[in-house]
Amino acid sequence: MNTLVRVHVICEDEEKGRKALKQAFDVFKKIDHLTNRFPENKPVAFSPGDVLKINGSAGLKPVQVSADTIRIIQRSQYYAGLTGGAFDVSIGPVMDSWGFGNNQQYVPADEEIGRALSLVDYGKVEVDPGKATVFLTEPGMSLDLGGVAKGYAMDEAVKALREVGMKHALINAGGCVYALGTRPDGEPWRVGIQDPRSSGDIVAILSLKDSAAVTSGDYQRYFEQEGVLYHHIIDPSTGKQARELIQTTVVSESATDADILSTALFVLGPRRGMSFVEDLPGTGAVLIGPDKVVLATANLNNQLTFTGDGGYQIARNVTQKR
Ligand code: ADP
Ligand code: MG
Repeated sequence: MNTLVRVHVICEDEEKGRKALKQAFDVFKKIDHLTNRFPENKPVAFSPGDVLKINGSAGLKPVQVSADTIRIIQRSQYYAGLTGGAFDVSIGPVMDSWGFGNNQQYVPADEEIGRALSLVDYGKVEVDPGKATVFLTEPGMSLDLGGVAKGYAMDEAVKALREVGMKHALINAGGCVYALGTRPDGEPWRVGIQDPRSSGDIVAILSLKDSAAVTSGDYQRYFEQEGVLYHHIIDPSTGKQARELIQTTVVSESATDADILSTALFVLGPRRGMSFVEDLPGTGAVLIGPDKVVLATANLNNQLTFTGDGGYQIARNVTQKR
């Protein structure tokens, strides 16, 4: 997943704790393999994961995949529908045209983006849960689960920790955080929301208990050309970078949902994003615009503390509807 995964468990039995850690990491490895779009540089025989198989059979035939892959894609499709395609896992060809993934990034010509965009359509991603198959109906289509895989892996890792009796844990996978239970002293875990323009500094502190907080930012993966930064969150309606926000954080009991939504809100922008997320039960969001204006949903009021650092202007509740 191209990121550092840090799992922190607190329990009384060290051996049990170490076993739990191993299980959590095994989950991340498994989901990474299933969702990886690029064959690994391994000298030994490499067995392709589900996404490689699905992409390799685009326009040809449905591919049988694991229950995990079906669940990831079904949830993605659900939110693709709700967001009018702002979140779209068939974004693969456009990611390729920008060179994300193979580290040969450059700004593609409009015609190249146009060609790639004609292959992006979540309606052409066919999932058959009964047969456990996925089919991309057009040749050249490709899935990219980079906006959801980490969150799903997180939920599965948390499930594994709970199953072996872990009561207090904190997992961080590159901006995707899960607070399992409370801290051992019974207080909620406290997690910083990064300052998008000053790494190492934080804009706010979130109190979390049995909850995920997932952050997407324009600084996570990007390249620079002629003084302009090109990052990795693409608006599927244009094939170009979404530019209305610079960072989004979503809080939810489901890390899968929070991961999808952090990317989706980034694309939707402050106005459409806020009005969308305020109608979603159990979901909180903190959106930061390029003007350093911060919008937060009202349901986070009791768990969100701004540091006052970095010159951010907090527009709390401005879009509250009811
Ligand atoms: P990060 O990977 O830094 O945590 P995100 O969760 O926001 O950030 O995911 C960004 C990734 O999602 C991109 O690298 C790409 O793989 C994929 N992606 C980019 N734009 C979209 C989009 N509009 N819909 C779905 N996935 C996207
Ligand atoms: Mg995401």
